[in-house]
Amino acid sequence: MNPVTGVGERPSEHSAFGAHGSVLVINSGSSSVKYQLVNPVGGEAIASGLVERIGEDDGIVSHTFAGNTTRRTGAVSDHGAALRLVLGLFDEVGPDLEEAHVVAVGHRVVHGGAVFSEPALVDEAVEHAIEEISPLAPLHNPANLRGIQVARELLPDVPHVAVFDTAFFSTLPTAASTYALDRVVAAEHGVRRYGFHGTSHQYVSGKVARVLGRRLGDLNQIVLHLGNGASASAVRGGVAVETSMGLTPLEGLVMGTRTGDIDPAVIFHLHRNAGMSVDEIDELLNRRSGLKGLSGENDLREIHRLVAEGDDDARGALDVYVHRLRKYIGAYYAVLGRVDVVTFTAGVGENDDIVRALACEGLQNLGIAIDPARNEGRKKQPTIISPDWAPTLVMVVPTNEELAIARQAVALVEG
Ligand code: AMP
Repeated sequence: MNPVTGVGERPSEHSAFGAHGSVLVINSGSSSVKYQLVNPVGGEAIASGLVERIGEDDGIVSHTFAGNTTRRTGAVSDHGAALRLVLGLFDEVGPDLEEAHVVAVGHRVVHGGAVFSEPALVDEAVEHAIEEISPLAPLHNPANLRGIQVARELLPDVPHVAVFDTAFFSTLPTAASTYALDRVVAAEHGVRRYGFHGTSHQYVSGKVARVLGRRLGDLNQIVLHLGNGASASAVRGGVAVETSMGLTPLEGLVMGTRTGDIDPAVIFHLHRNAGMSVDEIDELLNRRSGLKGLSGENDLREIHRLVAEGDDDARGALDVYVHRLRKYIGAYYAVLGRVDVVTFTAGVGENDDIVRALACEGLQNLGIAIDPARNEGRKKQPTIISPDWAPTLVMVVPTNEELAIARQAVALVEG
């Protein structure tokens, strides 16, 4: 059965899924596929799930609908098998995709290179362009593309939209996007700063304006997306003017397992003196560094627990993390000249009141301060955590990349 039919027709006004149908959002990694069926109007996730360990004999699928999670284990040979399993679960435990009236499939694509500054309706040419950009994101783009290809095969009657993590940062001024590298070499190999997590930075900065009832165009914002990956951005009037990630998502803030900023000569040093290959150094910088490299743990909850037990490495890791974060807040203050709102988002930003407090400590002279009572605890809703007297608002705004992808997909499909 083709589970998705009726594309292009309006869904019934009486459909349980609303008059605008739904969007299936797919985030395809090298060995996993994450998905969510989203109501793009109300914003809620109708169903969601994850296939892990693709290519292994012990694959795991979990599918959540109406508060119940169904789990399956077994071999999942490739991305095609993964998606067939997912569609089978929609059939078996719901929701019925025909009833949900899927108006688009939105795909997260990490790197849009210099080609994509907007979401794109996927056709052969778009697939080809994503493939061409793959050398810039060898871990991500091939997997994203694989997800697109199998989804188009299995759901051929629905428009597929690629939404790029880099797109929001296509507006970076040349001075911010340019590395001071020989310009001929840089141009030949596409070496410049692209920025990532753009869907989140765009969603959060837009949400801030809506929540405050202010015009996005009037606000200068610093957005701190602190998850396992972490990035900061400076957004002037809704337009991104700086961001901390660069050619790849390795630059910038200290992350769960990534170094963030590092003197590039460290790489030469390790290659020449430690005998490490480029691939080994790549793995070291991306997977064995950051909080994990410094403390053995990449999860800040664990790090706080270890700090409370008197663990010096965990204390040091937290200090390095916070120091880098504060440096970026100061730098982006200088970039923007005036900052109306500083916003924390993602796993750490939304949940970790200690990191938020440390990041803003002693910044009163910049107009940035935190009210301890307002800051306390995890935030599930947009919340102002600065005191009334502070000229700069500090907020926590939960990000929702799936919803942002769904809305961008609908906007493109419906014109
Ligand atoms: P994300 O990549 O946005 O899913 O964020 C994942 C990270 O958020 C984890 O590695 C933790 O460091 C952090 N995190 C999640 N929940 C909490 C919490 N309750 N307190 C502190 N940090 C948290």
